[in-house]
Amino acid sequence: MPATKAQESRSQKAIRIEDKYGAHNYHPLPVVLEKGEGVFLWDVEGKRYYDFLSAYSAVNQGHCHPRIIAALTEQAQKLTLTSRAFHNDVLGEYEEYIANYFGYDKVLPMNTGAEAVETALKLARKWGYDKKGIPANEARIIVCRHNFHGRTIAIISASTDPDSRGGFGPFTPGIDIIPYDNIPALQRALEHPHVAAFMVEPIQGEAGVMVPHEGYLKQAYEACKARNVLFMADEVQTGIARTGKMLACDHEGVRPDVLILGKAISGGVLPVSAVLADDEVMMVIKPGQHGSTFGGNPLASRVAMAALEVVKDEKLAENAQRLGEIFRAEMNKLVKEFSFVKLVRGKGLLNAVIIEPRADGKTAWELCLLLAENGLLAKPRHGDIIRFAPPLTITEEQLMACCTIIRKSVEAFA
Ligand code: PLP
Repeated sequence: MPATKAQESRSQKAIRIEDKYGAHNYHPLPVVLEKGEGVFLWDVEGKRYYDFLSAYSAVNQGHCHPRIIAALTEQAQKLTLTSRAFHNDVLGEYEEYIANYFGYDKVLPMNTGAEAVETALKLARKWGYDKKGIPANEARIIVCRHNFHGRTIAIISASTDPDSRGGFGPFTPGIDIIPYDNIPALQRALEHPHVAAFMVEPIQGEAGVMVPHEGYLKQAYEACKARNVLFMADEVQTGIARTGKMLACDHEGVRPDVLILGKAISGGVLPVSAVLADDEVMMVIKPGQHGSTFGGNPLASRVAMAALEVVKDEKLAENAQRLGEIFRAEMNKLVKEFSFVKLVRGKGLLNAVIIEPRADGKTAWELCLLLAENGLLAKPRHGDIIRFAPPLTITEEQLMACCTIIRKSVEAFA
């Protein structure tokens, strides 16, 4: 029998009112969180969990990092938002900082990842017309099957996921979808003279941490160069040290023409995203042609500088690289021992374990419930994939404790 309002726990109440008053556009695990610190989260009943999702890789620096929170609170008391109708005294400093940090001439600041992707799409089309000479309204963008770039209409027009697209047409034209990790398919698509850009995730995160073959990014980049097409990397999820390098493209020494970033730019404190490019591309956008009320606000700018400093100062890429190897080695032991643990794949601390659904219908969802019971939060995807992506501040000792929790949960699931 469901608990009456008087009997229900704080968790039950929070879930009930979310369910009643919020749109049902997510299907969260039944855990209600109220506090985070570093790699840990606490629920309203005081239970502590290791966070192995990191808000889809936004909290790479760990929850409520003191340096980022100090930057937030200090700036929040001074100035939060001016809009871009006026200059503010932080934006230029931030733009110089992030442009130098990633080695580009310029940045265009936005808020969410989807907005940064939209920005990149607009930038590519405009560059296509102004610089490449594509006839008006004929520009094409190549994307990959099973991509995830966000939820706007233009972006879902590039999606192949029925949940993302179903019932939301009509779609934006000018998009060519090719298989991921397939250079011949890319070369064929690039033959069209009106292609402005190829947009790709260096690792397909939402698709289940699909890692392309070594050399794919480099070959794709070179194929684009040969056709005067922009190579645009969506590093919203893979960027900022998650895969063991500052950018996932760094693994192959590829410097995208257009770099799309979000999530961990702010350490999960505020929605901050960015598109980086050199002048030849970025300067095609003129005043009044693109923007956002909140993009580049002083609060976000201060937070982002602090968050990016933390990534370098605390050597998070190096930590992700080293601990990622250890994590996959531990998971591979489970693959050998349990037939339903199919494989582990990933780079750095962006990993996925594939769980074969059981004959009794139990899936990765039930395993995630067991993990939560044992103090580790992870989210299943497509019924058989569990992504493991802890904050990059995790220590080896903590990681090994988490491997023990995962083993215990897998044993209970078996
Ligand atoms: N691009 C990639 C690769 C992502 O993984 C995501 C979100 O998961 C997005 C874009 C969209 O970001 P946001 O949810 O901040 O709009």
